[in-house]
Amino acid sequence: MILGIECTAHTFGIGVVHNKKILANIRDMYRPEKGGIVPLDAAKHHQHIALSLYQQALDKANINEKNIKAIALSNAPGLAPCLLEGLRFAQQKAQSLSIPIIPVNHCIAHLEIGQHEGARDPVLLYTSGANTQIIAFSSGKYRVFGETLDIGIGNFLDKFARHVGIPFPGGPFIEKEAKKGTYIELPYTLKGMDVSFSGLYTKLIQLYNNKIPPPDLCFSLQETAFAMLVEAAERALAHTEKKELVLGGGVACNTRLQEMCKVMCKERKARFFCPKKEFLIDNAAMIAYTGELMFKAGVFSPPSQVNIEPRERTDEVDVTWK
Ligand code: AMP
Ligand code: MG
Repeated sequence: MILGIECTAHTFGIGVVHNKKILANIRDMYRPEKGGIVPLDAAKHHQHIALSLYQQALDKANINEKNIKAIALSNAPGLAPCLLEGLRFAQQKAQSLSIPIIPVNHCIAHLEIGQHEGARDPVLLYTSGANTQIIAFSSGKYRVFGETLDIGIGNFLDKFARHVGIPFPGGPFIEKEAKKGTYIELPYTLKGMDVSFSGLYTKLIQLYNNKIPPPDLCFSLQETAFAMLVEAAERALAHTEKKELVLGGGVACNTRLQEMCKVMCKERKARFFCPKKEFLIDNAAMIAYTGELMFKAGVFSPPSQVNIEPRERTDEVDVTWK
């Protein structure tokens, strides 16, 4: 059994995996009363909830903690206070059970969980709050083929929603509003396989201040921002000659984004994999799942030798387990 811990941002989670089977996936999300995430408050949330989620996960998996072979920890990338809280909890448990820790890169875990859906060698379109990247395996590493040049797609959605008075998370609200809207042209920024949202954001605020109805803005911003992402992903598929696309990250819960990916893949004769919602959003099952792959390849460390890596890049990780 591998126990996984997710702690990189707003979500704290505990998952249990055994031979690629997911036995538990428990999570709890910190919600700011207003505004965006306050890292220290999110860390306090994690500290407060950790032990109870740990117990719930063991109960759900119906195992004793003595069955745990190693603890997989999302030690990178993320908000330092949140990562530290996860590390503290993982070290304490690993030391008391005399088992090692497997340091897992959160972005890579979003990709690896796509295998659970049947993908073999995919391109990942990773669309979360802070991260927006197009990642694929090439020459021994997961490489970032494209990414946002400014803010993540989710932060962009949340920022716009906050401007029109909707609290975090804004994505689901925008999806609902978009159903009532019609199209207006907006700035479309795609450079190679990189995207940028700041011009789009500025234009949206101008239009909102000029009393353009929010449903039209929501519809058009989805059509524009998602088209940029899907075109970047298509370029990566063409460049790498890969034939599979996996979606990951909270924004991938959006059915319009899923639909656009599906159409693009069909046109290119590529296979499209969209994990279930509980594996799309930040979750510990994907950390445990990736941890198990790494553990079997001998990638783990004594608890005291593991550290957090808030800024670790996807392509800094040596992928020796593939
Ligand atoms: P993550 O950082 O991966 O946990 O994802 C959180 C982000 O997903 C937030 O920015 C949310 O606004 C966004 N999100 C969640 N559900 C949806 C949805 N249905 N449509 C668009 N964005 C969403
Ligand atoms: Mg994530």
